[in-house]
Amino acid sequence: MSLKVIYRGHLTDCNYSCEYCPFAKEKNSRELQALDKKDLDRFVDWVEQNSSADQPMEVFITPYGEALVRKWYQEAVIRLSHLPHVSKVAAQTNLAWNTQWLSRCNTQTTALWTTYHPDFVTEEKFVSKCNELAALQIRHSVGVVGLKQHFPQITSLRQRLPQDVYMWINAYKREVDYYSEEEIAFLEDIDYLFRLNLPWYESMGKDCKAGSEVVSIEGNGDLFRCHFIKTRKGNIFTDSLASMLKKETCSKATCHCHIGYIHLDAMKSHEVYGSGLLERIPVRFS
Ligand code: SF4
Ligand code: SF4
Repeated sequence: MSLKVIYRGHLTDCNYSCEYCPFAKEKNSRELQALDKKDLDRFVDWVEQNSSADQPMEVFITPYGEALVRKWYQEAVIRLSHLPHVSKVAAQTNLAWNTQWLSRCNTQTTALWTTYHPDFVTEEKFVSKCNELAALQIRHSVGVVGLKQHFPQITSLRQRLPQDVYMWINAYKREVDYYSEEEIAFLEDIDYLFRLNLPWYESMGKDCKAGSEVVSIEGNGDLFRCHFIKTRKGNIFTDSLASMLKKETCSKATCHCHIGYIHLDAMKSHEVYGSGLLERIPVRFS
């Protein structure tokens, strides 16, 4: 079984400025960008040296902000996609960049989790980017945050996308009971898995694959079981990988983010997503 490695470097900036996001229109310094590049290169070297036929890896880049606009992330994805024991490289992105570099990726292993932000890009432009991905044979999911003011754009985007492209909707969770039952039904009609995204899962004491089959690695090499529990397990550049992997129950009261709760054993996410777990493409859309 492959180890899923969720990477988050030092970047915290973005070319968009979504109202609900802390990274909106941040601008990182040149020094921080240089550190991010150096550490990303070092991480990719580590993946190359530590993935093997016995320990294949899948890498998921989940930046704070937008990473794929940066050339060093593009080069990292290209390189990772061609490594013999990396079965998947996926990244979260807003797609606000030129797609041509993807032609250098291994299309068998590269996948994207793309998010549509109706306040910052026209539907025309976003759909045309998705069409470019399809032409380049890059597997991708498309999603959006289910803000009520965006319901017309959500409907319209679903109509424009090919039926075989999965469109997910993230529940807006900052307001309790934000949706009526009718609104949930409307969103569920577009994303048949929407209802799974609604709860704050009570995770304390529950078995979770994070820590044993999935790990979170930060730019400096520190390894955590997931992005949400900041108990450092060690550092990939000084500690052996095996010594940092451990099957444990969750120590947090709740887990509400898709990239966390999908790893709870009880979710049986492998049955829903199969090999498309990281890029969020369910088996029925594969
Ligand atoms: S595109 Fe993503 S990272 Fe950028 S501001 Fe919006 S939510 Fe935040
Ligand atoms: S349930 Fe969520 S918070 Fe708990 S270990 Fe798993 S991913 Fe981490």
